[in-house]
Amino acid sequence: MKILVIGGAGYIGSHCVYSIIENRQDDEVIIVDNLATGHKEAIHEKAKFYHGDITDAVFLDKVFKENKIDVVIHFAAKSLVGESMEKPLEYFRNNVYGMQVLLEVMHANNVKKIVFSSSAATYGDVDVDVISEDTPTNPTSPYGESKLIMEKMMKWCDICLGFRFVSLRYFNVAGAHSSGEIGEAHNPETHLIPIVLQVPLKKRDHVSIFGDDYPTFDGTCIRDYIHIEDLIDAHLRAVDYLMNGGKSDIFNLGTSKGNSVKEIIEKAKEVTNYPIKSEVVGRRPGDPATLVASYDKASKVLGWKIKHTDVKDMISSAWNFHKKHPNGF
Ligand code: UDP
Repeated sequence: MKILVIGGAGYIGSHCVYSIIENRQDDEVIIVDNLATGHKEAIHEKAKFYHGDITDAVFLDKVFKENKIDVVIHFAAKSLVGESMEKPLEYFRNNVYGMQVLLEVMHANNVKKIVFSSSAATYGDVDVDVISEDTPTNPTSPYGESKLIMEKMMKWCDICLGFRFVSLRYFNVAGAHSSGEIGEAHNPETHLIPIVLQVPLKKRDHVSIFGDDYPTFDGTCIRDYIHIEDLIDAHLRAVDYLMNGGKSDIFNLGTSKGNSVKEIIEKAKEVTNYPIKSEVVGRRPGDPATLVASYDKASKVLGWKIKHTDVKDMISSAWNFHKKHPNGF
């Protein structure tokens, strides 16, 4: 089948493209990416690449007309909680309006299956220890709200137009491809694990811990880190699920295990064998205290099995990538 990967040059999208090419020889991959945060170097040479923006309906329509797309996997979004608090309208334009155009073009070309990268940020601050898909959604940032709106747009396209979607609510994605050829490289970097690894790479002196007065066991925020390989496996299962007639649904992707910011720093010290310094600073606006997933539903419905449960595996594979690419791509 022909799979359109939107955002296929980004961190998660590029791993998805690699996985399709390495593991699914019968499938063909077409990538759309505006290269705003993605990297040309992360584009697999066997994928067909279109450089352009999904808010450009004429461009996107051409991609659909030139390729008989069976299913779309949509990764292209702005994805930083902190930035979204400063520039909410950019998030609504890129994410929400981008989705509007994508759904219009899909509808016009009679392509109705989409796997979507959603986020744990849709839940916001919760008062349960483990989040299930039934936990109420109360986003605490424009980023989280944008993902929730995008899910609702797909829901109504299902009800009214016969679309089928799978929305995957990621918790904290970490790690890199086993080859170390592709990995997480943002500029500037904002995500915890790559930032922590910048200290042993001698790119920064210390890590700033954003708040140690949260209601958690050590006062720092707890997140559920999930290995990129496991995350991508769920996307390809979701593609098969939709192609086999599965109904629209939403799934959490996490490991049900939380790690605090301080624990991540300690584990990174063990992995890199480097004395990573840290300093507590103020909270980052929009950050919920704890986000830990129940992934029972993805296990039951998609048959998803997690291979990497130890966050040290994720930090090690990220470290393998960063050592090979100390300056990013
Ligand atoms: N964090 C931190 N220092 C940093 C970057 C992140 O303390 O330099 C914290 C952040 O406040 C959050 C956790 O690490 O509690 C994970 O943040 P990240 O940006 O990696 O992912 P998010 O949870 O925002 O998706």
